[in-house]
Amino acid sequence: MTTQTVKQLINGEFVESTTSEWIDLTNPATQQVIAKVPQTTSDEINQAVAAAAEAFKTWRKTPINTRSRIFLKYQQLIRDNMDELAAMLTEEQGKTLADAKGDVFRGLEVVEHASGIGNLQQGAFIENVATGVDMYNIQQPLGVCAGITPFNFPAMIPLWMFPMAIATGNTFVLKPSEQNPMVTMRLVELALEAGIPKGVLNVVHGGKDTVDAICDHPDIKAISFVGSTAVGTHVYNRASQAGKRVQCMMGAKNHAVILPDANKEQCLNQLAGAAFGAAGQRCMALSVVILVGEAKNWVGDIVERAKKLVVAAGKDDKDLGPVISKAAKARVERLIQAGADEGAQVLLDGRGIKVEGFENGNFVGPTILDNVTTDMTCYKEEIFGPVLDIMYADSLDEAIAIINANPNGNGTAIFTQSGAAAHKFQQDIDVGQVGINLPIPVPLPMFSFTGSRASKLGDLGPYGKQAVQFYTQTKTVTARWFDDEASKGVNTTISLK
Ligand code: NAD
Repeated sequence: MTTQTVKQLINGEFVESTTSEWIDLTNPATQQVIAKVPQTTSDEINQAVAAAAEAFKTWRKTPINTRSRIFLKYQQLIRDNMDELAAMLTEEQGKTLADAKGDVFRGLEVVEHASGIGNLQQGAFIENVATGVDMYNIQQPLGVCAGITPFNFPAMIPLWMFPMAIATGNTFVLKPSEQNPMVTMRLVELALEAGIPKGVLNVVHGGKDTVDAICDHPDIKAISFVGSTAVGTHVYNRASQAGKRVQCMMGAKNHAVILPDANKEQCLNQLAGAAFGAAGQRCMALSVVILVGEAKNWVGDIVERAKKLVVAAGKDDKDLGPVISKAAKARVERLIQAGADEGAQVLLDGRGIKVEGFENGNFVGPTILDNVTTDMTCYKEEIFGPVLDIMYADSLDEAIAIINANPNGNGTAIFTQSGAAAHKFQQDIDVGQVGINLPIPVPLPMFSFTGSRASKLGDLGPYGKQAVQFYTQTKTVTARWFDDEASKGVNTTISLK
């Protein structure tokens, strides 16, 4: 049996790459190779960008309601195909089916938002800035934009990017994660079915070489990146150097703060879900908890909850599936060992877990490291696995100081019944997404995803209103229409009126 190959999308056609370099796409629960992903050649990248540049000439002038209607149809097609999309996502990414539907659904919400582009891409107009002179601005598309996405949300994150870029009148070249591009490709097929014209959306594949070619390409105007801090920083520097507009959403170490007045049942359930769900492979996973004051007595309850979670293949739809690759599993296990070696107590150890029928899967069970300190490797590095670090503080101020001293500023959550404490936290914490009695506060598309410090480069977020600004250039027009009044002659000074 020959293994299927993942196609590229160039100028409206799904085409086989001519490359000789192929990357194995494996099911993380079984290690079975389910497809081969091409390392797109530089010629093919140039073809994709050229197709997008050509399509831009007409797409930018396509009426806004025509653009909007495509996304209305697209959101319905995604809904109609939800089960198939989730099954594909689970097979190549590993997360549970229920969570895979959530991944698709969060992207679908951005598509819904893109269908309202007529209310979002509006300029401003002032009549009579001088007598008989009007001033207005227009938000014009940039041209060819590109997106580079990570493995952990192969539906949601591509949908953070190309719908808003295309709805605002740009054309797009997408580079999905080489670890699981199949669900992304199915979403792209549906986008064409919804009416996106040829050349407006293109897809290329591969790893570093493709990313670097995108950063360098002179005809790409803007890049949206989501992934790790090391790669995002490289992309930001390289693409900015090449004169592009760049936004990078990057790595995380998200802390939960639990005050002793929190609703214990609710907050511990939410903590367990957010620490171990998706096997800890969410950029908003709560990977550190700081127990303040008497909340230190809740450690046993946290361990009890974690023990009850069932690890299984994603298709069996239990609590958590495998991590993405053998390499990811080895990294998670190395960081657990580093925690133990550096003095943390391993209260629950998910290493060596076996899932019946899936003995080759990349499984790591929920793991809890206690008495973690800020100098430990398991604290300093993003583990991106089902591992919770437990730390302690005597006061909210001390907890805030720990979080603000961590380089990352992606997400955080506080659990308390005190409005004053929550307000102080909201005000003083230097983190992009803040949850109050809510563990994973991902902004809906009426807002935009954000981040501070090492978690984000560039000032505008990837979807929502900020994406309209990111994907458009402001042009300001000052207009006077002469009437019959006689000319007052040449004036060489700035008007004082
Ligand atoms: P990654 O950085 O390894 O990969 C992201 C993209 O960069 C992929 O498309 C990949 O092909 C490409 N890439 C990988 N290595 C490269 C290199 N050396 N040079 C150029 N390009 C390269 O990230 P990942 O492992 O796919 O995803 C997990 C990371 O993404 C975590 O750090 C997580 O926190 C982060 N993430 C952040 C957000 C956010 O919104 N802040 C959301 C999701 C994931």
